[in-house]
Amino acid sequence: MTGLPAIGFSPEHEDLRSWARDFAKREIAPVADTIDRTDEYPRDLAKRMGDYGLLGLGTPKEYGGLGLDLISSVVVAEEIAKVSLSAALIIGVQNGLVAYPICEFGTQEQKEKYLPRLVKGEIFGSYGLTEPGAGSDAANIQTKAERTSSGSYKINGSKLWISQGLVADVVVLFTRTGSVADGAAGMTAFVVDKGAPGFKVGGKLEVIGIRGTGTAELVFNECTVPATNMLGSQGDGFLIAMAVLNQGRIGAAAGALGVASAALEASISYSKKRVLFDRPLEKFEWIRFLMADMATRLEASRLLTYRAAYLRDKGEEFVKEASMAKVFSTETAVWVCERAIQIHGGIGLSKLLPLERYLRDAKILDIVEGTSEVQRWILSREILQD
Ligand SMILES: Cc1cc2nc3c(=O)[nH]c(=O)nc-3n(C[C@H](O)[C@H](O)[C@H](O)COP(=O)(O)OP(=O)(O)OC[C@H]3O[C@@H](n4cnc5c(N)ncnc54)[C@H](O)[C@@H]3O)c2cc1C
Repeated sequence: MTGLPAIGFSPEHEDLRSWARDFAKREIAPVADTIDRTDEYPRDLAKRMGDYGLLGLGTPKEYGGLGLDLISSVVVAEEIAKVSLSAALIIGVQNGLVAYPICEFGTQEQKEKYLPRLVKGEIFGSYGLTEPGAGSDAANIQTKAERTSSGSYKINGSKLWISQGLVADVVVLFTRTGSVADGAAGMTAFVVDKGAPGFKVGGKLEVIGIRGTGTAELVFNECTVPATNMLGSQGDGFLIAMAVLNQGRIGAAAGALGVASAALEASISYSKKRVLFDRPLEKFEWIRFLMADMATRLEASRLLTYRAAYLRDKGEEFVKEASMAKVFSTETAVWVCERAIQIHGGIGLSKLLPLERYLRDAKILDIVEGTSEVQRWILSREILQD
């Protein structure tokens, strides 16, 4: 792919953006701080997002979803994340990390069983890849799935830092069916239901950002699942995990756009109101140039992110572009949020404004779904072709 394709939003994308903006203002803004403060999963909000179709943005219409393209998901994520990254993450997990792999790799039976309920928010899902000993090094997972004489699979192991793990009714779970020496080739995915014998939530894990999204440990102790719960074929696990993450990185970048936009908008507004040395803050050159840089980096992030989604929607190669969007947008969000606090001075550090929440949320994004270092590793391989 050479050159930058023209990125234009269709009237449908623009309508979706203004609808998502209104929805976020009306339904999410009043509870955004409470979700962060209490760290409790907002089940009512999540269900309401399901009622409005937000949990089935990309799911085909035949399973009750809206069947929209990835640009639409980025538009929604950006607008919702301006108000609450936690709410955007719930939409992202349900759509991108759970429904998407079932849509792409599931059997007809699995699609019919899970997708309509995921779309409506009747059930919530998780994506279980990370383990205590395997995060960036995902091919090193140790959770074992062994075929039994009856043809079912017995799963043993645990998963760490799993979003929505606390409330998950179903988990897209990555296991090792081959030996450790097989690496990525020995990985197999399963769809595991909450009621499966031997599966339990190990405990809630408290983190600094995206609070209220039910981050938890999942434990599998002689957990038995039928062979029909396998997602894709034996040995497809790594391929499925990466297919999800490649696309998920665009979602993380989209969330970063929203958080950074909110921090920049707050800074612009505050600089007009705050008077120092008989002048509004906006008249100080340092502040003006800083906001110019914040806006420029944000716009560059936006172009990278929508370009990656555009390529994905066109069915073209997008892995390099998704990694570029992820690393640049998430690091930009951290930088913009930190600068926004600087512009606000003391009040920026307080709980009176959501800026400190924005910074905590933004920081999560340059670690999840592949850290910045992992993105640079992917990019260097793409660029150097080695
Ligand atoms: C809030 C939250 C939600 C999450 N949700 C999920 C989820 O839903 N599902 C899921 O499966 N996981 C989830 N994760 C896990 C997340 O994806 C991992 O934390 C992340 O991939 C990093 O893995 P790690 O924590 O094991 O860090 P490590 O892999 O141990 O990395 C430690 C450090 O080493 C660096 N590093 C790694 N490899 C290289 C390299 N080749 N070169 C240079 N530096 C390198 C890393 O960038 C990092 O700075 C979540 C994590 C958090 C905090």
